[in-house]
Amino acid sequence: MIPSPIEALTRGHTDYNPDHLPVPLAQQLVRNAVTPIIDTETLPLKQALGRILAADLVSPIAVPSHDNSAMDGYALRGSDLSASPVTLKVIGKAFAGHPYPHQVHTGECVRIMTGAVLPRGCDSVIPHELVKDASESAVTIPPGRIRAGENRRLAGEDLPAGSTALPRGRTLTPSDLGLIASLGIGEVSVMRKLRVAFFSTGDELRSIGQPLDEGCVYDSNRYTLHGMLMRAGCEAIDMGVVRDDPSSLEAALRDACQQADAIITTGGVSAGDADYTRDMMARLGEVLFWKIAMRPGRPMAFGHIVVDGKQAILFGLPGNPVAVMASFYFFARDALAIMAGANPHPMLSMRLPCAEPIRKKPGRTEFQRGIVSVDASGKQQVRITGAQGSGILSSMSEANGMIVLHHGHGDLPAGSLVDVIPFDGLI
Ligand code: AMP
Ligand code: MG
Repeated sequence: MIPSPIEALTRGHTDYNPDHLPVPLAQQLVRNAVTPIIDTETLPLKQALGRILAADLVSPIAVPSHDNSAMDGYALRGSDLSASPVTLKVIGKAFAGHPYPHQVHTGECVRIMTGAVLPRGCDSVIPHELVKDASESAVTIPPGRIRAGENRRLAGEDLPAGSTALPRGRTLTPSDLGLIASLGIGEVSVMRKLRVAFFSTGDELRSIGQPLDEGCVYDSNRYTLHGMLMRAGCEAIDMGVVRDDPSSLEAALRDACQQADAIITTGGVSAGDADYTRDMMARLGEVLFWKIAMRPGRPMAFGHIVVDGKQAILFGLPGNPVAVMASFYFFARDALAIMAGANPHPMLSMRLPCAEPIRKKPGRTEFQRGIVSVDASGKQQVRITGAQGSGILSSMSEANGMIVLHHGHGDLPAGSLVDVIPFDGLI
């Protein structure tokens, strides 16, 4: 997990300007600076939801294991179908779990249920609602209702034996759990969880339960970060609030470095007199400080520290609550996923018309909080939540998506198409 030296990362990037770093370049530099952990653990399948596969999962069997019926109906030989009605003799029944054990010959068929193994000799199924004159012993197939081979699920059509069912680095979803179960596999090797320590800095911060002295605010960033880290599948190590004082900060960073693969701090990265985070990171390791051409979330310190030979990646995020979330989602999240061993999975975004004009300054990426709704004609549209200040955390709770306004864009008239990243996905 040793990142390449910062100079090497930025070499060759002609648009590198630490005071005005475009978002896509900063994202690339962060991605290039991290490497995956290697430790793995084995878990029972049900506990593996959201975890990252440590090795390719190879299918030991074909799924399904036999050709079987996709319908309730009659299994028959496709060669018996003809241009005129044919009457077939019903010679038996096949249920799911109870196959018909004998060969089926020309002129014969078998009553079959969905999922039942196709009897030997049969290659097609006609649904029962398409047949005529069905009795216990015979059934008539009108012409043209099905073609040979229809309504048959082929052995291995879901997964052939020996194929890679799921690749290493896959973050397991509910369907994956089912897929693994369909192979008869009950435990999986996954990456251990990434350990991420985090703390807030600021003399004005109070923790819940403390009186709110004049000019103070309750520390919300640790709770937002806890939530975001949980959703990101990390082990979150909450280290509390740290005062704006170099020795407290040094002690907290040293402690965090011992415990975690990555450290996230908030506050204290501006240019104020009490902003010590950047300098302390530089003393303990290597820091790249950027003013990113984005809003919210302009200042960010990124790098690593080393304490007693143990290294941790470090994100020094700004203090404003919305800036914390934007810089987490658009920088830290990807880096943490790479460190955790996950394959890249880009965020899904939609292009939607904005219901109202949006103000935007060219020359920076803006992440505005959006509400996606459906207009009177049933079409989706998006509008901003209102005040977009980086301290207005309620805008994140009100929104159901982030509107990403790209670097070059200026003001947008109503009806312009904008990129929206929805907060909630199906899975
Ligand atoms: P800073 O980046 O330290 O200058 O902080 C910028 C703004 O964010 C200030 O108004 C802080 O009070 C506020 N802030 C910083 N940390 C937190 C936090 N953990 N919870 C809530 N607000 C914070
Ligand atoms: Mg501060």
